[in-house]
Formats: sequence, C-alpha cells, structure tokens
Amino acid sequence: MGETHQSEAGVHKLTHSINGRAVEGTSDRYGDVFNPALGKVSARVPLASATEVDAAVAAAKTAFPAWSETAPIKRARVMFKFKELLDRHHDELAELITREHGKVLSDAKGEVMRGIEVVEFACGIPNLLKTDFTDQIGGGIDNWNLRQPLGVVAGITPFNFPMMVPCWMFPVAIACGNTFVLKPSERDPSASLRIAGLLKEAGLPDGVFNVVHGDKVAVDALLAHPDVTALSFVGSTPIAEYIYTEGTKHGKRVQALGGAKNHLVVMPDADLDQAVDALIGAAYGSAGERCMAISVAVAVGHIADELIERLTPRVKSLKIMNGMESAAEMGPLVTAAHHAKVTGYIDAGEKAGAKLVVDGRGFKAQGHEDGFFIGGTLFDDVKTDMTIYREEIFGPVLCVVRVPDFASAVELINRNEFANGVSCYTTDGGVARAFSRQIQIGMVGINVPIPVPMAWHSFGGWKKSLFGDHHAYGEEGVRFYTRYKSIMQRWPDSIAKGAEFTMPVAK
Ligand code: NAD
Repeated sequence: MGETHQSEAGVHKLTHSINGRAVEGTSDRYGDVFNPALGKVSARVPLASATEVDAAVAAAKTAFPAWSETAPIKRARVMFKFKELLDRHHDELAELITREHGKVLSDAKGEVMRGIEVVEFACGIPNLLKTDFTDQIGGGIDNWNLRQPLGVVAGITPFNFPMMVPCWMFPVAIACGNTFVLKPSERDPSASLRIAGLLKEAGLPDGVFNVVHGDKVAVDALLAHPDVTALSFVGSTPIAEYIYTEGTKHGKRVQALGGAKNHLVVMPDADLDQAVDALIGAAYGSAGERCMAISVAVAVGHIADELIERLTPRVKSLKIMNGMESAAEMGPLVTAAHHAKVTGYIDAGEKAGAKLVVDGRGFKAQGHEDGFFIGGTLFDDVKTDMTIYREEIFGPVLCVVRVPDFASAVELINRNEFANGVSCYTTDGGVARAFSRQIQIGMVGINVPIPVPMAWHSFGGWKKSLFGDHHAYGEEGVRFYTRYKSIMQRWPDSIAKGAEFTMPVAK
C-alpha cells in the first residue's frame, strides 16, 4: 500500500507500493507534483532506480505461482470486492485526480466510472477464460485449448487519465492470473497509490499489484528486465514506438498505444446544434488533454461559415476555473511546461497564416493567477501542412479545416499518420455507412464525438496511434494477457498399437 509523508508546508512525500507495503525511494531523485489550478507543488514523487524496479518485479514474480493457481472465480471475487470499494471511494478518487491533473471534478468522476467498468468486466473472468473443446477429433483423441497467464506484466501510463488508463490494464491482467507492476505518470501519481491500497483492502495478496514511480530510468529497467514478460503502454507516439521497439527486442509481448489527431466531420446536412455542442465538449473538455479529444473539425461545403459563427461565442464563454468549482467547464493544463508547449503551438499556427478566431493565450483565472490556465482557442482556414494540423497539441485548441465534399474529408483523414478516433455528424444513413466503412481509424463515432468503446468491447487506434497487435481491455485484453495453448489427449486403452509414422489425420 502506498503512503504519503508530510514534509514542507503541505507538500507530501510519496512512496512506491511494493509487495503490499509503502517503500521509500532509495535514490535521491524526486519529481515535483503540482496542483495545476494553484500552480504550486503539492507532493514530491520518488523517481525509481533499477533497484526499486527489481524489488517490485521480484515481489510480483514471487506472488505469481500462487495467484496464477488461484481459481478464476476466487480472483473474480477479489475484483467484486475491489469494485465495491471503488464505488465507495469514487468521490475521493475523483478529487485526487482533479487536484493533480486539473480536470473538472465531474469529468474526473466520469474517469473513475470508466475505470470501474473495466473492473466490472474483469469480474466475469471465469467465463472469459472458458475455451473451446472438440470431442473425438479422431482415434479417441479430444482437443481443447487453454488461455494461461504470462507471468509478471508491467503497465506504463500517461498523465491524462491517472485512474482510467491503469484500469484498462491491471484488472484484466490480474484477473487472468498475472501479477502486475504499474509505472504511472510521475505528474499525477497519487491515484495509483490509492488503487494499491484499495486492492489490498479487497483481499488481493501482497505482490500481485505493485506501483513503482519514475521516469525513463524506471521504464528502461522494466523494458530490459528478464522477468517482465509483457508490457502495456499508453502515452505519446514517440515513446510508444520506443517502448514497442525496445520491448519486442527484449522478447516481450508489447501493446503500445500512442498519440492522436482526431477529426470530427461536419456534413452540410448535420444537425448543427448537435455538432457545435459535440465540438465544444470534445475539443475543450479536460482542456483538450484527452487522446480522444477532437482537435480538428472538418467542415464540408457551405457549412463552414455558420459553424465558425456558432463556435466563436461558445469558445469565448467557456467557464474556465479551478476544476474543484462546480461551475467549471474547463480546468488548467497539467504543468507550466505543458502550458508553454501549447502556447508555442498557437504562436506557430498564427505565424503559419491560420486565422486565429479565438486566442486563449494570456488567459488568467480569477483568484488563481499562478495556475496553469489557458483559454479556449479556435483556428479557421487551417492547412494540412501546418504544424498545428500535423502535430498533437494536447490542449484546448480546435483547428477548422475546410473541404469541398465528403470524399475530400475521408481522403484528408486517411492521409493523417494518427488514427485513434474519428467522428462524423450527418443525418444521412448512407453517408454514415460509407464513412464507417471507408475511414482508416480504430474507433469511429457517428453523431458521437468521443467513441471510447465500453469495457466489453476494446480500445485502440491504428497506424501511429497503436504499436502492437492487440487493442486494450475487453476480449483483446484477455488475449493480450494470456498465452494460448492447445492440448490433445487420449487415454492408454485407446492408443493404437505400434508407432505411427504418417501425419495423424482423423480416422
Ligand atoms: P508521455 O509519452 O510523455 O508519457 C507516458 C509514460 O511514458 C509516462 O509514464 C512517462 O513517465 C513515460 N515516459 C516519458 N518519457 C519517456 C522516455 N523518454 N522513455 C521512457 N518512458 C518515458 O505521455 P503523457 O504526456 O504522459 O500523456 C499524453 C500522451 O498520451 C498524449 O500523446 C496522448 O495522446 C497519449 N494518450 C494516448 C492514449 C491512447 O489510448 N492512445 C490514451 C491516453 C493518452
């Protein structure tokens, strides 16, 4: 279980959580965790060296034999208990997230819920591990398959969903019988420690779930560790590609989900009220710090002028304040460094000649002048060769690109190197069907702006948004966290006399 120690004025010193216990960092490397609304350091997080990573992997390795032999129904019971505890601590977890990430509290509550849904899915593990059986393939032989756990698996997660993204991984991994080492984002690490505490309270044996904080040093130690069999990663594309290349080079199974540039197509026949609401929520919700945020609106044909006209006052009137305030629609960005990066993109867009319709630079939240706030930003006439179109900004910046027709919209989106999510607003069923079939993107919404699949479906993009063969959670998760084994069996009284030298075929 993780712990915090009070040090200088209100600043907590966090610990790792290894083998069910709080473990202090052994190196003197610590990172600052901020409350982004206040712009102040709220905690110090230990950045692990290979020593702590070794300890966590060793604890997970020791716990693996007993946990993998535990009946799936008993593993499911721990998940049920854990789900009950998450329900009970829902608000507390959401507050932890808002204080370190900055997103508004209602959104943080939604994040916790989406995490709980994967736990609910994992409660069905006895059924999910059930496999196929063929009676009498021939000669008194039966053939069936097993899905067996891999061993120690690791998860490396991003700052933008400190609860939901770890929940895409560990509930399924653990329910399948694996043991787990989580390396959460060092920018908002507290939710993962609370998760460790609740898992222990739910009856999870020590060592099955461990949390090691850190940066590249800890990640590299996990990538090279011979006892880590598989790695799930979610984060930016350059790091995802690195994790996939390095992890597979070390013989590990890897799924690495990367960044995104998600488009929302507004067809001329769309219900414009719905499309505008969708764009405001999906582009500016969580200050654009979502991998499924919409960052490009593709206006088709004559709709563009009216779209800009309707979006402009809405972007200008966003209620931007401390996420703990109930009226807040958008909170601050996560750190000052990220604030500088997003501001730099707005500068670049303006310089490249995009039309800056609403400029969020220089925004200050009243009473929180030191917070990392930025206003909503809207660009029109964005061209595909501009940096603001090509790169992931990960901030509250919406780019409107104008195209003449449906075919050009599809072609433009399919040319983009990212392929996480996409949406199309239309009232024409034929257009909707053609769009769903022709678009080369992992997750598609028709009149749905953020099509994050439910826990029993699976989450994942294509192209530079996912490296690996499996999407996250759902049945894809069960496949990723298990190895397939085929067994053929016959009993001595049915064994044919003598050796057989020909390929066995059904008789
Ligand atoms: P990030 O890539 O900076 O960090 C992700 C994780 O990698 C963190 O745990 C971090 O400590 C670690 N890391 C960072 N630099 C590293 C390095 N050089 N070597 C090894 N490990 C390193 O991402 P972030 O800023 O925390 O999160 C935002 C990004 O995550 C965005 O690009 C967003 O699109 C992406 N994301 C993708 C999905 C998805 O499902 N595809 C979901 C959420 C977030």
